[in-house]
Amino acid sequence: MLIVMKPRATASETEAVVDVITAIGLRAHPMPGATRTAIGITGNEGPIDGRRFENLPGVAEVIRVTKPYKLVTLDLHPDKTVVRVGDATIGGSEIAIIAGPCAIESREQAFTVAKAVQKSGARFFRGSIWKPRTSPYTFQGLGDKAWQIMTEIRDAFGLKVVTEAVEESHVGLIEKYGDVIQIGARNMQNFSLLKRAGRSKLPVLLKRGMAATLEEWLLAAEYIMAEGNYNVILCERGVRTFAQHTRNTLDLASVPAIRRISHLPVIVDPSHGTGTAYMVTPLARAGIAVGADGLMVEVHNRPELALSDSAQALTPSQYAQLIEEVHAVRNVMPPAADGLNAN
Ligand code: PEP
Ligand code: MN
Repeated sequence: MLIVMKPRATASETEAVVDVITAIGLRAHPMPGATRTAIGITGNEGPIDGRRFENLPGVAEVIRVTKPYKLVTLDLHPDKTVVRVGDATIGGSEIAIIAGPCAIESREQAFTVAKAVQKSGARFFRGSIWKPRTSPYTFQGLGDKAWQIMTEIRDAFGLKVVTEAVEESHVGLIEKYGDVIQIGARNMQNFSLLKRAGRSKLPVLLKRGMAATLEEWLLAAEYIMAEGNYNVILCERGVRTFAQHTRNTLDLASVPAIRRISHLPVIVDPSHGTGTAYMVTPLARAGIAVGADGLMVEVHNRPELALSDSAQALTPSQYAQLIEEVHAVRNVMPPAADGLNAN
């Protein structure tokens, strides 16, 4: 159920509707928009009798939601969500660049890469502290001791720190020392982790599961939002197919497909999406061309020595070239195709 308030409805009228929702044991999610506020209702297992809301002051319309998701939809929030992290944004007019190594390996490695990516326009620094690896015998990340390095990078370069919470206990540490909680492809349907991230005040970058449909992915975002955290960024990172020329098949059609359904920002990860450095820049250009709000790119000062995802890491100079090219693509795009008003 979705309650749309009249454009001139007052804050106290909205508040009164929220009170009724709470009084019947459900949760209200008021979403102020440019022209009106809509209130999503969650917590009901069956249909709600919407007629009780019809005559409340300020209510314009009561809409029964027939789709499985509610809070992610444009029905609830017709304007695009812009996620703000300090002075940086994801979903606004700038191309949001999240760049850095696959994993934090050493102080020297992390600082060299952070300096390089900041110089070429990244506002966000990525680097895993805990690595969810396919094999238990490969590098699992430095763990908690990487926070010292991350904190110094955050202070020295003013970059916002994005790192993956592999389990619930990691969320508290990211809240303490980081800026954005990443949920990885392998955890896209780890529902207790999604709920914990949903109770955080930090934005959540939600990667697409490696075999997830669009609906499953959006429902994972819905889990986070249903807990009250509306700052969710979707990240297309490819899905498993029969293709052998790439690590994953980067599903760029998901970007306009999501745009049609959801107000959430979408970024593209051409690094995990291809698995090989020579394809990263072409797919990054394509990601921007289909309307992505930003990119996640893996960069290493010595890719050949990287402890994880060595084949897909760009050198700092390849990364700088990528940034130039994606801006060139964005600059020739018609305004309606940049994803801001492509509905
Ligand atoms: C990552 O970004 O570090 C990562 C592990 O990616 P994914 O979850 O998309 O495989
Ligand atoms: Mn990686």
